Amino acid sequence: MSISKAELTSTFEANLGYAQAQDEQDPLKHFRDRFHLPTQSNGEPFLYFCGNSLGLQPKSSRDQIDQELKDWAMLGVEGHLHARNPWLPYHEFLTEHMAAVVGARPNEVVVMNTLTVNLHLMMVSFYRPKGNRTKILIESDAFPSDRYAVSSQLRFHGYDPAEHLLELRPRAGESCLRMEDIEATIRKEGANIALVMLGNTNYYTGQYFDMPAITKLAHEQGCMVGFDCAHGAGNVPLNLHDSGADFAVWCTYKYLNSGPGSMAGCFVHERHASSPDIPRFEGWWGHNKTTRFGMRDDFDPIPTVEAWQLSNPPILSLAAIKASLEIFAEAGMNNLRKKALRLTAYLEYLLQQIPGDKINIITPSNPAERGCQLSIQVRDADKRLFEAVTAAGVIADWREPDVIRVAPVPLYNTYADAYRFTQVLEEQIAKIS
Ligand SMILES: *Cc1c(COP(=O)(O)O)cnc(C)c1O
Repeated sequence: MSISKAELTSTFEANLGYAQAQDEQDPLKHFRDRFHLPTQSNGEPFLYFCGNSLGLQPKSSRDQIDQELKDWAMLGVEGHLHARNPWLPYHEFLTEHMAAVVGARPNEVVVMNTLTVNLHLMMVSFYRPKGNRTKILIESDAFPSDRYAVSSQLRFHGYDPAEHLLELRPRAGESCLRMEDIEATIRKEGANIALVMLGNTNYYTGQYFDMPAITKLAHEQGCMVGFDCAHGAGNVPLNLHDSGADFAVWCTYKYLNSGPGSMAGCFVHERHASSPDIPRFEGWWGHNKTTRFGMRDDFDPIPTVEAWQLSNPPILSLAAIKASLEIFAEAGMNNLRKKALRLTAYLEYLLQQIPGDKINIITPSNPAERGCQLSIQVRDADKRLFEAVTAAGVIADWREPDVIRVAPVPLYNTYADAYRFTQVLEEQIAKIS
């Protein structure tokens, strides 16, 4: 979806009446009421901008989880086959909607395990160092868990991360990576890189990388390519299949609103799914469904991403994901993206009106290179400003050393939220100036 900045912003006005009028006209406005909004002690809802960290609870989550608790109570083990939503194939009920959210084919997507676990499982299959091709390329500001995962994989194969972990670093004085620098590194180091593994969207800056372009460059050099889409899934249109990436992983508790520690998603491009010689850690849930309970000695992999499943999954977590994905299916990723582009541009516009040239937004200003999130630095301020903003009724988050991350989420945030947040921030900045 390409839309120019000018088109998005030309009619913006910095006042509450305008913001409320935008909310009135918003075709997705009724979705806010499908979620529980955390409330302050005075009974007012918080201004919630943390959907990038823990998405809000859909009111339907409880019903979906209750259904499984009831069936477990009534049926015991028989629920595997006779629950209203039988547990044996339960994960399959999520596939179609999840595939739509991440732009994949249904045979390329499965919900299993948690994010960092899936990242390791994917590296078992797709980090296969050989000869001089040993290195892993990540972002210098990669999420810590991703860094620990890739470093430990390097050490597991006998390589010192100090030498074999390559980092893409923004230029001095810049926060985001430039595509031309990513390209130069991949071209220069390509023959030594076994795996390119980037966070997409980047959790710190909110930068959304051009996956097809990066994948093409890396594949030309013979590297495997994987993306951690923890901050992308449910936020930006990922088009994973068309990106050509070899694998992707993501969690479901951020933009996908499926509850703290909920299970994660995994994508393996279909070109790999039935490859007979791909190394993989295996378990019985990856085995051919028709003979799984024959307890055979040989592993007969399902010829899709489902071959990577290890265990029978926790149904209560899947139930919450099912509730959330049904909301995404109803709203539609394209509609959500359309609103998100405009809502985030509106928040950016409002922040830029704060007097005194105090605000520096490190997230790319080009809407095509970001999702919902804006990462804000405030000149001459420290964590106390964030604490004051929190005390004034805002839930956002702080990332060391100096960034406030705010994500207006199109399913439940409003233009009025963006306006009120900016007011709070401006008031608190005025107090410390
Ligand atoms: C949120 C996040 C994680 C968290 O990992 P878990 O295994 O779900 O605890 C890892 N990587 C990135 C990029 C994230 O944004």
